Amino acid sequence: MPLTTENTTFTRDVYGRYTCNTFEEAVASTDRAGGGAPFDVIVIGGGSFGGVIAHRLFSLDQRTRQHRILVLEAGPLLLTEHIQNIPPMLADVMQEVRRVPWTAPANLGLQFPGLAECAAGRSLFWGGWSPQLTDSELGDWPQPVANDLKNVYFAEAKRQIGTDTTNEFIFGPLHEALKKNLWDNIGLVADRFEIADADQLEAPLAVASAASRGGIFPANKFSSMQLLMDATRKAFAESGGDDRRKRLMLVPNWPSRVCQSPTVWSAGSSQHGGLWLCRRADR
Ligand SMILES: Cc1cc2nc3c(=O)[nH]c(=O)nc-3n(C[C@H](O)[C@H](O)[C@H](O)COP(=O)(O)OP(=O)(O)OC[C@H]3O[C@@H](n4cnc5c(N)ncnc54)[C@H](O)[C@@H]3O)c2cc1C
Repeated sequence: MPLTTENTTFTRDVYGRYTCNTFEEAVASTDRAGGGAPFDVIVIGGGSFGGVIAHRLFSLDQRTRQHRILVLEAGPLLLTEHIQNIPPMLADVMQEVRRVPWTAPANLGLQFPGLAECAAGRSLFWGGWSPQLTDSELGDWPQPVANDLKNVYFAEAKRQIGTDTTNEFIFGPLHEALKKNLWDNIGLVADRFEIADADQLEAPLAVASAASRGGIFPANKFSSMQLLMDATRKAFAESGGDDRRKRLMLVPNWPSRVCQSPTVWSAGSSQHGGLWLCRRADR
């Protein structure tokens, strides 16, 4: 009996069921005897970069649709949007958000210690400030990687997160005056990452406040949840509801690790070639 949307005391878990799969569903979908296929890529951690990578791989395979991707995320589906995109009257949900997923000891007294253990990870809470690495910051990087970043991927990332247009939120005469003041006096700063002109002092914000096309609302502040939902829903649509044909699955609440043996992290382990994909036993 397939798992349908579940009721909690207060809500019906449409977002969870429509976005996520259970580990058991993921494993069942690989059963070759039943027409399934193994996963080609397993992304451990469906956070900021894990979500982006999974979506990227899924999109690259759009034409041949030959590969299956499994995203194993330690935490639950917590928010479907960046925290600043949810209605302002719910802003105090932050107290709850801070209480639940963060992993570092509370006695550190930091507001955002450790990881946000939830789907999309810290991208649900990040400020969005996204200045591009300068040439001097890329100085120690392998040259081919730096070239690829500068020639292709910085521009792609900017388009994806919304920083390819100018800063839409912090602008105006005061901003310009402060920027000029900073630029005029930047010579006083010893290590200034070779900032070459005043415009490089801008820190673009990852917010898309204009619609990408007619009839679509703007994405607002970027989080990888948008990409995870995009990929999981597209994967569902093209599978015709048959998990065995679903090219991407997101399994939450599944803290995992690749081990040499299943002894350290044990519950839910499964063997792949010489390695074990293990679930943390204490969870
Ligand atoms: C409040 C705040 C503001 C910030 N503002 C900015 C900013 O303005 N500009 C900027 O550039 N950066 C900012 N950052 C930093 C930025 O958010 C992080 O650098 C970035 O999100 C890290 O991405 P990540 O994918 O490495 O980690 P995460 O987004 O933390 O993702 C890691 C994921 O892996 C999961 N995970 C961990 N272990 C396991 C396991 N064993 N099995 C399965 N899953 C696992 C976690 O649950 C999590 O979902 C900010 C961060 C915070 C908290």
